[in-house]
Amino acid sequence: MDDLQTLDRQYVLHSYARNYTPFVRGEGARLYDAKGKEYIDFGSGIGVVSVGHAHPRLAEAICDQASKLLHTSNLFVIEPQARLAERLVELSGYDMRCFFGNSGAEANEAALKIARKYGETRFETKRYKIITLEHSFHGRTITTVKATGQESMHKSEFSPYPAGFAYVDSIDAVYEAIDDETVGVMIELVQGEGGVQPFDKAAVQDLQAFLHSRDLLLIVDEVQTGVYRTGEFLASNLYEIEPDIVTLAKGLGGGVPIGVAMTRLKEIFAPGDHGSTFGGNFLSTRAGLTVLEILEAELDSGALAERIELFSRALERLAESMPEHFTEAVGLGLMRGLRCVDAQIQGAILEAAFKEGLILLKAGRNTVRFLPPLTISRDEIDEGFKRLERALLAL
Ligand SMILES: *Cc1c(COP(=O)(O)O)cnc(C)c1O
Repeated sequence: MDDLQTLDRQYVLHSYARNYTPFVRGEGARLYDAKGKEYIDFGSGIGVVSVGHAHPRLAEAICDQASKLLHTSNLFVIEPQARLAERLVELSGYDMRCFFGNSGAEANEAALKIARKYGETRFETKRYKIITLEHSFHGRTITTVKATGQESMHKSEFSPYPAGFAYVDSIDAVYEAIDDETVGVMIELVQGEGGVQPFDKAAVQDLQAFLHSRDLLLIVDEVQTGVYRTGEFLASNLYEIEPDIVTLAKGLGGGVPIGVAMTRLKEIFAPGDHGSTFGGNFLSTRAGLTVLEILEAELDSGALAERIELFSRALERLAESMPEHFTEAVGLGLMRGLRCVDAQIQGAILEAAFKEGLILLKAGRNTVRFLPPLTISRDEIDEGFKRLERALLAL
């Protein structure tokens, strides 16, 4: 398998710090490498594999769609796209319409274009500024990386960046930062990449009410929190707020690339305002529909709630029993983290867990992040935590 590493290094740009273990197969929350070693996947490919690896129903739907029709472009009406839009709106409980892209960054780009057009047309003087939070993450395109409230990611070699973003260090600081060019605020309800940091529900509700009273927009980036990750369809449902724009991506396609911007501003775009060649094609929207069918049943049966309970109890126990490594267990639903005493231990834990056959993720500077498949079984949870304990004892 050194050949694969050589090939990758020779022909793929080096923008990732890659692990060269070649995975060849998966089933549920389990992954297998080329030597047949088994891993429990508590990362789901960064929250993407929401229904687990090789889910038979998803595989069947993808095969069926591929054998009929994959793509016609958005010049033509696309049945699964229209049906997925309907399901997304129904499940959200909001009166919205959808725009489909292929990634989280594209969903956020669409959200920013919606906000800018609203800011241009709704007010007497142009409003275009978006306030975002420090430690946020909104994507890697030139615009969405600038929307990301992490100074270190605004690398000078990629400048100049688009103007129109302001950053604040807390929800409370948003009010002060609003000026007469501000059109809205973009937040994650639980910051993912920034360290699995949920915001206070009452503070978010107050902010939403304030923004609405001024006709300013609340954009909720649910690229990571959306599609049942926090235990409800949207984290916005859990927070009981009425956002103006919601973006989704990661878990929606179960591994097939898809991104969506949903908005209450149903008339915002006219033909030609925005578009995507691949966005919302037959393949990705059929996959999205199937993922929603699977996960809706998991919520309705109570199975998702049980899993969340089991998983969070295991994490709390671990955090309490190892104060030498962890300060607290954080997060919501199946978006969880263990805050480590320092950054060094974070890296050491990921490495030791991997050796034991357990895949974990980093978040922020000192958090070990858990984003297991939302369909993970009790046995997979137990086995994963057994491996984690072994890894921690071996440190
Ligand atoms: C991952 C992520 C993105 C970017 O999604 P891509 O599909 O990588 O473009 C944006 N926002 C949040 C909150 C994310 O977690």
